[in-house]
Amino acid sequence: MAQAGLVPKEEAKTLPHEILALGAGDAWRHRTAFVFDEVRVSSRPRNATELAASKPVKDKDVLLLDHLAGSFTPDGEHGRTAPEVSTRPDAGGVPTLGCTFVPAKFGRGVRAVVQPPGSWLQFAHDHLGLTHALDWRWHRYMGALDLLLTPEVFRSRIEAIHRKGLKYYVYTYKAINPLHPNYEEYFHEWGLHPRTRWMNPSKIPTARNYDADSTCANSPYTDYFVASFEKVLKESDLDGIYMDGNTKASLCANSHHGCGYRDSKGQWQGTYPIFATREMLKRLYAVTHLNKPEGIVDVHQSFCLCIPTTSFCDIIYTGEHEPFSPERLPEIRVRYARRAWGIPIETLGSTPLYLRYARRYWAYMLIHDARVRPGGANGRNDMQRKTARIRDVIEPFREPGCQWLPYYRPSPFESRTSQVLVSAWGRPKGDYMLAVACFAKAAGTTESRIKLNLNGEWKATNPLTDEVFSIENKVLHLKLGYEDFRLVHLEKTPRQ
Ligand SMILES: [Zn+2]
Repeated sequence: MAQAGLVPKEEAKTLPHEILALGAGDAWRHRTAFVFDEVRVSSRPRNATELAASKPVKDKDVLLLDHLAGSFTPDGEHGRTAPEVSTRPDAGGVPTLGCTFVPAKFGRGVRAVVQPPGSWLQFAHDHLGLTHALDWRWHRYMGALDLLLTPEVFRSRIEAIHRKGLKYYVYTYKAINPLHPNYEEYFHEWGLHPRTRWMNPSKIPTARNYDADSTCANSPYTDYFVASFEKVLKESDLDGIYMDGNTKASLCANSHHGCGYRDSKGQWQGTYPIFATREMLKRLYAVTHLNKPEGIVDVHQSFCLCIPTTSFCDIIYTGEHEPFSPERLPEIRVRYARRAWGIPIETLGSTPLYLRYARRYWAYMLIHDARVRPGGANGRNDMQRKTARIRDVIEPFREPGCQWLPYYRPSPFESRTSQVLVSAWGRPKGDYMLAVACFAKAAGTTESRIKLNLNGEWKATNPLTDEVFSIENKVLHLKLGYEDFRLVHLEKTPRQ
């Protein structure tokens, strides 16, 4: 896609983030299947003779000259080319994941990738190792598990997903839409009191996904919800359930189902139905796994970790609208470090880019053995591919028998920089995968030194790019930016 170039008197500083994008609209969308051989940016227009020269030459008017010659594996983030001429020390090009260095007219160049063809489902399964597909638009009303499609069409949709080797599960929320046929008859008994509208009513009649009133887990609504889910699961061959906030035990004073109490001053007060919510989760977990042993109970809950109600799930998806910052590290450690609670944690990222992958989320998650879940296999393929690459690299270090060495416990890996934190996984075969995250706000990059209290000689590589890090006198050297991370594979060098 053609983008407007600079016009006379315009400077590169007016470009967003001073980034020159080649062959793509931005870092996420559009790909052009070019081979990029050389990049030269000059301070003046070049004449025809200069442009016809056999190779872009370096002279006093060159601001940037990058031969795009590298030997690393592009990971779209850390692997950078080394320009021969540049105005800034960090001015290397970052080839997108999937690009390769190939022979070109002037030495080596970068072959850019094209957007993978075919359906997102095929792509997600073949290239990302995606195992579960979550459907958001499957029911007619929030809270009532009735189908938007006819049972036959719905069933065939699920069959198509199963044929791709994926599990299929559905989005739910514990609220009921006022248009639902059961609302008039049952809401007084099912509802949270005071009435709590999940979101403001939409002016669009069909956009009623969130336009609903909250129900209480302590009410017979739970029986209705669990039974409806079991019915749909069996009839339509679902593999699980996604719950958006259902695990929150919301304050309720509805005496129609037993919530609330009168205080010593005679005032009616609400109660938090935490045990009823826990029982609801138990039942949903049992329905799912008795029918589908490989099924999933996926709990989405942000702003808190309520373990009594989230114990009966397979994964917690949290952190939405909760901006990350180094000040939050102690809280992140308590809430997100999976080893503390036994349930895997995935985060969305945070506002304002909570729907988009950003490597800073991984800086917070990897050192706590938690993950980032990228949203949307469709259209943001790099986000998915980058996540898949990180997962492929770290999962072999998380198998039974592997050791977890978090930064807050004694470990052979000792950061010499207080704002650089190191956690590691160790395998029985004797190698380590280090997750190193930097929270120093110093401008540019921070020189990080990590003492390796290990016997023998060791080699350190970036498993995503195959670049080698230097180790001098058992000190590993890395350069990291603010909220930046590196994975480092540490292997013992065989004796000569
Ligand atoms: Zn209640």
